[in-house]
Amino acid sequence: MPKIYLIDVTNRDGVQTAKLGLSKLEKTMINIYLNGMGVFQSEFGFPTTKHESNYLRANLELAEMGVLRPIRLGGWIRAIVADVVTTFRLVPTIRHLNLSISTSDQMIYGKFQGRKNREDIIKDMTGAVDAAWALGAESIGVNAEDASRTDLDYLIEFGLSAKEHGACRLRYCDTLGYDDPLTIYETAKALAESVGLPIELHCHGDLGMAVATSISGAKGVIDGGQDAYINTTVNGIGERAGNADLVAVILAITKAKGFAGKYQLAGAVDLSKAWKIAKFASYAFDIPIPINQPGVGANAFAHESGIHADGVIKDPHNYELFGYEELGRGEPEMVETGREICAGEYSGISGFSHVMGKMAVSFVDNREEANKVLELVRYANVESHKPLVEDELLFIAKYPEVVKKLLTLNPLE
Ligand SMILES: [Zn+2]
Repeated sequence: MPKIYLIDVTNRDGVQTAKLGLSKLEKTMINIYLNGMGVFQSEFGFPTTKHESNYLRANLELAEMGVLRPIRLGGWIRAIVADVVTTFRLVPTIRHLNLSISTSDQMIYGKFQGRKNREDIIKDMTGAVDAAWALGAESIGVNAEDASRTDLDYLIEFGLSAKEHGACRLRYCDTLGYDDPLTIYETAKALAESVGLPIELHCHGDLGMAVATSISGAKGVIDGGQDAYINTTVNGIGERAGNADLVAVILAITKAKGFAGKYQLAGAVDLSKAWKIAKFASYAFDIPIPINQPGVGANAFAHESGIHADGVIKDPHNYELFGYEELGRGEPEMVETGREICAGEYSGISGFSHVMGKMAVSFVDNREEANKVLELVRYANVESHKPLVEDELLFIAKYPEVVKKLLTLNPLE
């Protein structure tokens, strides 16, 4: 039975969003949380971008160590041979890639301005796929950018060419959020049937439908007999109006009326990690979670009006589709209301030891180790410009050697 897999693209589409960004340590923490949640793959960055190299290599090292496992770490590049070559030069141990190229006439003519036609696009893509296999890729997805504005026959031809060259998946990009749930269902089903590859749904929220189109597209793919892969981002953060929100997608697949039985998530996705990852992403991006956000918004389980409050007190099922506990909510959170000692880029060993001691991490016998971890915490702060959260501090204390690598930036080297 075909299943629905999740490929989270927070560390690629999320971070390329205008006015937003994450430090390399924050990107790493997102990968750690996604892994803990049971997400199939994290599109963890840009292998051809030089300032990503150390971060990408360090995260692949974490995968080798078993820390980032079983999650797959996949890179995003353009579907041209030059990008593939640069990728394996800068990040030799990368094994999973998505290769992206525009397929709509609008973009072929609007971006390449007559330098490329439809045939050239397929030639670039297949050349890149061949090169990626030759250089050591273990899985390759091929992305059709602006697929929702691409002529379906050409999209099928593009998908079949990708398949001929051994691509594992075709990514259907609703780049501008142009689809509605009914149109994407039909197209995704036709692609699954005609191309015979698993299909990824990459949907944007320009018309407020990113989650709806993602899950409807996934239904189409499964009805077409193939596995579906939904691209998500934490809190829906992404280009312009954003991407399909990770938590809302999981809720929709597991709770919506039409999904029982045939349309199921692959593997064990742990919804109880939702609260933690949503809160962390909100803090790291410095973007508040909207109060009406599904599952993790401040109002998602709030009731005030007489009839609702009375109903939910008698039986929560009267006005709640699912319980807050399922998302890992309900634990009290400690907020300092008096004196606060923080660890930052100018911290000293005394304050730092105090902070770590509150988390039951002691450096009593190892002053040298404490100084090393403190130095890494200071550097991490230089990148993130905000106090590190407990999980980040614990991560640095546990894997200082890897953290040293992922924090290292060598401009113009
Ligand atoms: Zn996108």
